[in-house]
Amino acid sequence: MAPMLRLYNTLTRQKAAFTPIDPSHVRMYACGPTVYDAAHIGNARPIIVFDLLFRLLRHLYGPAHVTYARNVTDVDDKINARAAARGITIRELTDGTLAAFHDDIRRLGVLMPEDVNVAGARPSFVEPRATDHIAEMIAIIEGLVAAGHAYVAAGHVLFDVPSMPDYGGLSKRPLDEMEAGARVEVAPYKRSPLDFVLWKPSKPGEPSWPSPCGLAEPGRPGWHIECSAMSWKHLGQTFDIHAGGIDLIFPHHENEVAQSRCCFGTDVMAHVWLHNGFLQVEGEKMSKSLGNFITIRDVLKDWPGEVARLAMLKTHYRQPIDWTLRGLEEASRTLERWYGIVGDAAAGMIPAGVLEPLSDDLNTASALAELHRLDDPASLKAGANLMGLLTQTQSAREQGSIRAAGVDVSRVEALIEARRAARAAKDWAASDRVRDELLAMGVAVKDGKDGTTWSVAP
Ligand code: AMP
Ligand code: ZN
Repeated sequence: MAPMLRLYNTLTRQKAAFTPIDPSHVRMYACGPTVYDAAHIGNARPIIVFDLLFRLLRHLYGPAHVTYARNVTDVDDKINARAAARGITIRELTDGTLAAFHDDIRRLGVLMPEDVNVAGARPSFVEPRATDHIAEMIAIIEGLVAAGHAYVAAGHVLFDVPSMPDYGGLSKRPLDEMEAGARVEVAPYKRSPLDFVLWKPSKPGEPSWPSPCGLAEPGRPGWHIECSAMSWKHLGQTFDIHAGGIDLIFPHHENEVAQSRCCFGTDVMAHVWLHNGFLQVEGEKMSKSLGNFITIRDVLKDWPGEVARLAMLKTHYRQPIDWTLRGLEEASRTLERWYGIVGDAAAGMIPAGVLEPLSDDLNTASALAELHRLDDPASLKAGANLMGLLTQTQSAREQGSIRAAGVDVSRVEALIEARRAARAAKDWAASDRVRDELLAMGVAVKDGKDGTTWSVAP
């Protein structure tokens, strides 16, 4: 029998057994990237971690019984400014950035909609974009105004925080602390400093849509409303799991909860809230000013995506992670060793020693420790595959590195044959010359009992 899944829930600050609302349709939402520029390696963390959870849910409940929605934020101040500076539309900018992001994360072994969706069936993975959900945002905003939880002021629509008695239940911040934080620069049209924007007027040149609530001027949505709209559209008013980085708990997730619950009159938005810890680089906060800002693409220039994925999964998702060169080197050595064991073997049964710790709030460190102990290729492959690792065969990997190294395979084979002939004639000098020529091409030869094999030198 499959182990019971346990998850640490930010809402209750406790780890508890996960009970889906409907086990025949488990629904998970994750806040995805804001696509204005190349994603950094910190952004890759929630993508990889929640991809692992998605894989685990598919295993535990069956692939047809899980829906994962990971949104794309394709309208915000940074996007608007960047598009305006380049003289292109926000769609043109975000299409380009999103395509690059997809290339990056695919190489990190992250499942994509086209990998899991089955034609004619309910989609398993959706990637909704904010600008495709303006109608849903407007419906929620108007619902909130009608219910007395939002008001119109100076061309804006604002959420009325004091109208929600249990506002703040996710972040559990004391009201006076939140107020002090919000009071830094309070817009004059806000009734309470905590009130937040649902809709605002667009400045000239900014993208705009017809406004809700009878407002004459066109406008654009505030940030938080998009996730209430997209999760509602794709998962329903209430769903099972909502995930994102720890920085999103307040205000983003708190405000999502306020919007969705007050609009739909529900007790919860999502039952379980998961938050990944932050990534820092070589012991320091990653930032452009410190010069240690690393994009996913920078990492992929030096390392296979699988190495980066393993390096990311070694640390438990709730802990801070220190991204280091040493961690990548270690992950690379580990994968070499594992591929050496697995070779081209097919996956067997997923070992309990891997599934159990993963089911315990994604204890990846324990699951990886078990993979280190396994020496049966079929079990090792199955356990690693569940984590999105060892998904290639050793031969395919070698072929890949041969292609990447630009090696001319027929030339290599002709040289190996020449070397075999030289050795048969005991012409050791000629044999050595051929070997040196191969080495100069980056090809290493190995003589074994079954003949000579070759590989591209690492
Ligand atoms: P953003 O594009 O900044 O909205 O971030 C997209 C996702 O990446 C959010 O879930 C953030 O919480 C997460 N994120 C951003 N920076 C980091 C970091 N340094 N470490 C871990 N997660 C991060
Ligand atoms: Zn969100």
